[in-house]
Amino acid sequence: MSTLDTQSIHAGEPEPRIEGAVSMPVFQTATYTHDDPGASPRYVRYNNSPNHQALHEKLAALTETERALVTASGMAAISSALLGVLEAGDHLVAPHSLYGGTLALLNDLLPRFGITHTLVPEDTPEAWTAALQPNTKVLYAEAITNPRLEVLNLTGMVDLAEEHDLTTVIDNTFASPVNLRPASLGFDVVLHSATKYLGGHSDVAAGVVAGAPKPLDNALQTTKLLGGMLDPHACGLLHRSLKTLGVRVRKQNETARALAAALADHDGVERVHHPSLSSHPHHDRARTLLDGFGGMVGLELASQTTVDSFFDALSLPLRAPSLGGVETLVTQPVHTSHKDVAPAARRAMGITDRFVRVSVGLEGPKDLVADFAAALDAGLDE
Ligand SMILES: *Cc1c(COP(=O)(O)O)cnc(C)c1O
Repeated sequence: MSTLDTQSIHAGEPEPRIEGAVSMPVFQTATYTHDDPGASPRYVRYNNSPNHQALHEKLAALTETERALVTASGMAAISSALLGVLEAGDHLVAPHSLYGGTLALLNDLLPRFGITHTLVPEDTPEAWTAALQPNTKVLYAEAITNPRLEVLNLTGMVDLAEEHDLTTVIDNTFASPVNLRPASLGFDVVLHSATKYLGGHSDVAAGVVAGAPKPLDNALQTTKLLGGMLDPHACGLLHRSLKTLGVRVRKQNETARALAAALADHDGVERVHHPSLSSHPHHDRARTLLDGFGGMVGLELASQTTVDSFFDALSLPLRAPSLGGVETLVTQPVHTSHKDVAPAARRAMGITDRFVRVSVGLEGPKDLVADFAAALDAGLDE
C-alpha cells in the first residue's frame, strides 16, 4: 500500500482524467440527466456526484477503511453516524471529555429519540465495563481529547467492545489520519470534523464518516434523509486541501513540539500540555499509538498572568475557535468549546479559566516561539 502522502495526491482521482483535467473539476450541478429510467438517479443530496465519489475514495484510502462519506460538517458526520447505528432503547458509553457539540447531542437531542448514554471519567476498561448495560450498543471515544490532549486507552476500548459485541466509534479530528488511523486499531467507525485538519485552511465546513460498509450504508441513508450532505463547491475545497494534508500536519506537529518544549519552563505558565512532553501523563502511550504528537498545545497560565493581557500581547495568533488551519489560533475553552458544559463538569475535566488552547499553524516556528514567549513575559511584567 502506498503512503498517506501518495494516497492524498492520487487515491480516488478519476482515471482517465476528466477532459484531461489534472485537478478534479467541480461539478456545480444539483441534478444529473439519466437515459436509463431503471438506473438509480444521480442527485446532490444522494452524495453520488463525481465530486463526492472521488472524495469518498480518497478518504477511504487515507483513513484505511473500506468506505467513506463526506458530510456538511463534523456534527453532521457525528449525528449521521450515531443515528445510523443507534435505535430507540439503545445506550452509549463514552469517556467524559468530549467535544461540546457531541455532549449537547448526547444530552439534549438523542434522549428525545430514546437513546441514552453514560459518561465515564476514569480511563480504564474496568470503569467502562461497570458502565455497560444490557442495551449498550456503542463505545464512543475521541482520539486526542479536547483541550487537555489526553490519549486514552484506545486499544483497551477496542478489546472491551469485541468482548461485548459493541460498535466502536471514534472522533479522530484532533489526530487527523496523519497522527492516527483508528481503523488499524480495530475501530468500526471513524469520524472527522474536516473543518479542522482535513480542510486545513479555516475556509470550509465539512465532516467525514469512514468505516465498514454496514455502518456506512446506515450513515449514508441518514445523511440522505436529514439532508446534511456536502455541497459540490465545498467538496472541491476539501479535495484540494487533502493533497497537502501530510506536509501541513507534520509541520504543525513539529512546530507544536518546539513551542511546547520552549514554553514548558516559562514562569508565565503553570503547565504546558502536549503529548510530546515527558511530563504529559500519556506520553508513553502517545509514542506507541500515534505517529507524531499532534498540532494542538494547551497552556495553563500561571496565577500572575492574566489571560486577557496574554492574548493582547500576542501578535501572530488570532483569537478564534476552531483548529487545524494555517493560521495559529488561540482560545479559552471555557468561553468556546466548553461554554455550555456545567462548571462542575468542566472542573472535573480539568478545564480552568486560565486554560488556553493553541492550534499551531504554519507560521515560522521561531517567530511563533518568540511571540508566545514575549507575550508571557509581558504578562509577568504587569
Ligand atoms: C470541531 C469539532 C467537531 C464539530 O465539527 P464541525 O465541523 O464544527 O461541525 C467535532 N469534534 C471535534 C473533536 C471537533 O474539534
